[in-house]
Formats: sequence, structure tokens, C-alpha cells
Amino acid sequence: MQNTLNDMLADIEAEVRFTREAIGKEALAAKVMDAMATVPRAAFVPPELQAEAYDNGPLPIGHGQTISQPYIVALMTDLLQTCADQRILEIGTGSGYQSAVLSLLCKQVYTVERVAELSHNAAACLKQLGFNNIHLRVGNGYDGWPEHAPYDGILVTAAASHIPPALLEQLRPGGRMVIPVGPAYSAQQLLLLEKDAQGQTRTQDILAVAFVPLRDEQPAEAQTAR
Ligand code: SAH
Repeated sequence: MQNTLNDMLADIEAEVRFTREAIGKEALAAKVMDAMATVPRAAFVPPELQAEAYDNGPLPIGHGQTISQPYIVALMTDLLQTCADQRILEIGTGSGYQSAVLSLLCKQVYTVERVAELSHNAAACLKQLGFNNIHLRVGNGYDGWPEHAPYDGILVTAAASHIPPALLEQLRPGGRMVIPVGPAYSAQQLLLLEKDAQGQTRTQDILAVAFVPLRDEQPAEAQTAR
């Protein structure tokens, strides 16, 4: 039988309990789970994969990219500890699903994607669902989005070979960055980086993860989608 949104929420809760030692908690923040319950993941999944939209796993979205596993989306959102008045930068818009979840927990989301078609599809989907605090741009995420910096939080949804200096620079003192770091398609660690008021950073290893690579090259045609 097909999983429902409620099944997905139950699966996330079960996986959080299963990984409690690594992530240091038994449950994610209630407001994060509320956001996961509000965004219809099916709207971000291709038509031919609708039957799997609420499975707790990643799914292909074209161009060799994926919409992340719901548990990972929820965990990364929780680690960011977003507040309602904050501005968040996301790198790797993909389907736009993570942007939608974040947008319910902060004031503005800025999101950068290198594949123009994915960005345009995400923009159309988010507009249709009525999200109006998400700003999309086609570009190389290694450079961040300097025009709107500094950000209260930065969430990277593709694996970087290193912490991009531009992102560190664009993170406000007191802000947090959640980023998978490691070689492409190999052992990657989800890192939580905190920048204190003096600009010193502290990095914590959270969990072994598997993300598509953050490619360090400019897109063919860089342009602002919205
Ligand atoms: N957050 C997405 C998951 C995206 S998968 C979602 O919720 O659906 C990672 C995305 O990062 C892919 O769409 C990929 O094209 C994009 N990406 C890879 N390298 C990038 C780069 N250098 N800059 C911006 N986006 C990049």
C-alpha cells in the first residue's frame, strides 16, 4: 500500500529515535515536524513517482539529481534552529521541497541552484503552492549569494569537498551552517558549524550521509529566476 503523509511523519520519528545517539536527541522540534506535515511532498516529486512521494527515501528529480530523504530534510532543518525573523540561504534548490519547509520557519529563504531547469521548475511549483518568501537564483552555490548576506543560517543540500569560504563569510556571527562535507558519492559527514559573536567557528560531526556532489563550476547560463 502507498505511504501517506502521516506514514512519512511516523517514519521520520522512528529514524530520529534510531539515530538518537548520533544526533543527540530523541525527537526533532515540534515546529519542524509541523512544517514537514504542512508541505505536500507529492507536489515536488515527478508524476511517475507519485506512488513513492511519502516514502522516507530520496527520489530522482531529473538531471541526475534527487529530492532528499524526508528524515534528512527534517534533521537538517532542526539543526539550523531557525527563528521566524531570520533570513536563510540554501544551496541546492533541486525540487524546492527543502526551501518550502524552511520558508515556514523563517522570514525569507534565498536558494541557489546550478541547473537552470530545476530552478525554474521549483519556482513554478512554489508559486503554484502560494509560497512567496522564497527567492531563487541560478548560480554556483560555492559563491553563495553575496547581495543578500549576511544570513542567519545556511543549509547546503549537496556534498561539498570543503566548507566554501564564501559561505563562511556570508554567515552572520551567531549563525549556523549545516553542510555535508566529503568526497563525491563516498563517505560524507553532515557537519553543524556555529559561528560565534567574535566570528570564531566551531564544527561538530553529526552523521554519515550520502548526498549528490556540490559541483564547483559555473552553470552554463547564470540568471536570476525570480
Ligand atoms: N534541496 C533539494 C535537494 C537537492 S539535491 C530538494 O529539496 O529537492 C542537490 C542539488 O544541488 C541539485 O539540484 C544540484 O543540481 C544542486 N547543485 C549541485 N552543485 C551545485 C552548485 N555548485 N551550486 C548550486 N547548486 C548545486
